[in-house]
Amino acid sequence: VSTTDNDQAGQCLCGAVTFVASVQANQPHFHACHCEICRRWSGGPTMMVSASNVSFTGEDLIRRYASSEWAERGFCSRCGTNLFFYLKEQDHYEMSVGAFNSQHDLSLTQEIYIDSKPSGYSFSGNHPRLTEAEFLASIGQGPG
Ligand SMILES: [Zn+2]
Ligand SMILES: [Zn+2]
Repeated sequence: VSTTDNDQAGQCLCGAVTFVASVQANQPHFHACHCEICRRWSGGPTMMVSASNVSFTGEDLIRRYASSEWAERGFCSRCGTNLFFYLKEQDHYEMSVGAFNSQHDLSLTQEIYIDSKPSGYSFSGNHPRLTEAEFLASIGQGPG
């Protein structure tokens, strides 16, 4: 499997923060998380693209909120745009789908915390939909 990456640009709503991030070029995809933290953070499901080589301009305007002991959520302090989920130990960014300038070549390949999803909306498509327990097991963590 090729791991060639593809640089993609994005920005916050007000444009004070811009970024370039490498996403998988051969199968660009994102996942949606329905957990309570993500819903409160974004006002709905949070949709994220796994990224590498992330660089920012306007980084002084980015605020990082520690949503857990292992992760931070970044947003523009001027306009409130949600920019990323950051795993501290792995030094890994998951970038917000909506912040990219072009989103048309990204496909939804997984939903997680499906058992937390409110009943009033759902995504179409035939892809894995993992419960909290199934997701935690898939990353080697127990419940809680
Ligand atoms: Zn902004
Ligand atoms: Zn979540």
